[in-house]
Amino acid sequence: MSSVETIHVNGVWRAAASGAQREVLDPADAKTLAVVAEGGTEDTDAAVAAARAAFDTGPWPHTPVAERAALLRRVADLLQRDRETIALIESRDTGKTVAEGGIDVDCVTDAFRYFADLVIGEGAGRVVDAGSATVHSVVVHEPVGVCALIAPWNYPLLQASWKVAPALAAGNTFVIKPSEVTPLSTVHLVRLLAEAGLPDGVANLVTGAGDPVGARLSEHPDVDLVSFTGGLSSGIKVMQAAAPTVKKVALELGGKNPNVVFADACATDEDFDTAVDQALNAAFIHSGQVCSAGSRLIIEESVRERFVTELARRAELIKLGRGTEEGVECGPLVSAQQLDKIEAYVASAVAEGATVRCGGAQPEPSAVRPAAGYFYAPTVLDGCHREMKVVREETFGPILTVETFRTEDEAVTLANDTEYGLAGAVWTKDAGRARRVAGRLRHGTVWINDYHPYLPQAEWGGFGKSGIGRELGPAGLAEYREAKHIYQNLEPQPVRWFAG
Ligand code: NAD
Repeated sequence: MSSVETIHVNGVWRAAASGAQREVLDPADAKTLAVVAEGGTEDTDAAVAAARAAFDTGPWPHTPVAERAALLRRVADLLQRDRETIALIESRDTGKTVAEGGIDVDCVTDAFRYFADLVIGEGAGRVVDAGSATVHSVVVHEPVGVCALIAPWNYPLLQASWKVAPALAAGNTFVIKPSEVTPLSTVHLVRLLAEAGLPDGVANLVTGAGDPVGARLSEHPDVDLVSFTGGLSSGIKVMQAAAPTVKKVALELGGKNPNVVFADACATDEDFDTAVDQALNAAFIHSGQVCSAGSRLIIEESVRERFVTELARRAELIKLGRGTEEGVECGPLVSAQQLDKIEAYVASAVAEGATVRCGGAQPEPSAVRPAAGYFYAPTVLDGCHREMKVVREETFGPILTVETFRTEDEAVTLANDTEYGLAGAVWTKDAGRARRVAGRLRHGTVWINDYHPYLPQAEWGGFGKSGIGRELGPAGLAEYREAKHIYQNLEPQPVRWFAG
């Protein structure tokens, strides 16, 4: 495969039909990292046709579950074989550290193994009591068909795999479209699927822009399901494009996630250190480019000053640099566009009265931080309130806003005052309060005295405008299946509803 042959259709790697190419940049220095095919409508239609043919006439949808599960396990093994290579690809493409890239590969491996176990652990169907000894009634699950899988740039391999693994486990065929900003690890994944023995045409890949590639996939009459992870405005477009063909739509969109800290969670010095450390991690890991980032610190007023002072002190110590450098803790933002967006959010927050406690600017260049890279210092904005743009909108960068509360009700009201509803956390030593608050938060994941862990066996997804449907867990497999009721009359008789 030469570098521009990044489109995969029916088992063949090729360049874009138009010959168009795109330079993929290294966000740490803005230099060209790779050149990939810039697919268009023609490539997308060819990929859909291949997936359609593989679904309608190929062996994959009817392959025994045990064989499908075995293939997923082989993919998991190959991911581990290539762990270091993929971690490096992901680091250079997204800017994240190599260590984070390695963790992503491990999480992806777990997801492939989880869906292999899940699908193999299920029976062939659910027998339903039809109330008659002469009727056999069973509900079986079948693949939806051709799936369009559209992924974002922040966790390219991870978000792709949360779709690819269940789609394959359920017997679907697909066309995947990675983000045009970070396509490289998905190209590697599709190579591994072929190496694991997936039949040609089952997994197709088109590298290219949201419009036309993602837009065409969303409207295409031969696509049965579109599973999209990305921003709210793109998600709305996907849903609109999918509506005329009434295809199934799964959306994993943004978040504006509250990290609620009660004073009792800071009672001892050790507790205080843990809560601060986790708030730092919640907000700034991967430079805050995480859909579930704890970007809103909602803290009890009595501990605010001490907490924010320590948080800002530690945020200033975060080592920013190229993700492949030893000792670097946070990489650059993914693109110049993201950097511009973050600068604009901080400017608007300051104009609306926020106080910059740390950060608020690009850091000085250094040996590990090329001047052309898209670096931005972790930023803590104090004195925020919920009318501010920076509090209401997903910034998707290293910005933590601070709001305060006095009562439990006030904390819950603040935490739920968002159009999103992806994730949030509550920190308290009071077990009753922890469960009460967790029960009242309108978010798809709630952590108590923790932040960020997720489990492949637990559903992930959002309330409100954070999305539709769930990934991971049993619901993450159900998304890729149709339920079919088969009712068999063992002794058919005339009905005689009509007398004549
Ligand atoms: P984005 O919406 O710009 O792009 C996501 C994908 O959609 C890309 O592949 C893009 O090319 C494609 N796309 C863009 N316009 C399209 C269109 N009109 N039709 C079809 N596809 C289109 O998002 P992004 O900037 O890549 O990613 C960041 C966003 O993703 C954030 O909002 C983040 O919260 C969200 N995200 C959510 C989750 C989750 O689990 N809920 C996980 C990761 C990221």
